[in-house]
Amino acid sequence: MGIEEKLPSGILLTSVEKLSNWARKSSFWGATFGLACCAIEMMAAGGPHYDLGRWGMEVFRASPRQADLMIVAGRVSQKMAPVVRQIYDQMPEPRSVISMGVCASSGGMFNNYAIVQGVDHIVPVDIYLPGCPPRPEMLIDAILKMREKVMVAPLGPNGRKMLEQRRADGKLP
Ligand code: SF4
Repeated sequence: MGIEEKLPSGILLTSVEKLSNWARKSSFWGATFGLACCAIEMMAAGGPHYDLGRWGMEVFRASPRQADLMIVAGRVSQKMAPVVRQIYDQMPEPRSVISMGVCASSGGMFNNYAIVQGVDHIVPVDIYLPGCPPRPEMLIDAILKMREKVMVAPLGPNGRKMLEQRRADGKLP
């Protein structure tokens, strides 16, 4: 008799999912790029004073193919929008997005034709971080919230959709 037949239904997959999520949340690798002033606070968060390395995040990757977290730090111009989308598309699944600051989330004070009025027009956003600019502690708090989200994320390329479905079904807060 195989081990799958001895165990209650789904227990093996659940354990693999938990292990994978634990590994993910313990070592976010952010994509290295900043769009405007918010990026300065993001850089400060990675420095020795705030020390993102405490949560396995000291490595920002220059290649999107090695990154699983996109922090959109600053306003997104119309010209930059296709580039942001391309970077997102090059990141492997599962991937997450934090919109850092009011400009990235809604255009902020730049209510004009040159600025995208919210990066969620271009990529799906997991967490919106308010502030102008948000302080490094706020970014760290958003990353910790992101870790909680990752821990309940289903495995696989459709993980995001399944997560939303679980939420809609009332199985998750
Ligand atoms: Fe700059 Fe403030 Fe906009 Fe961030 S939210 S990009 S700090 S103007």
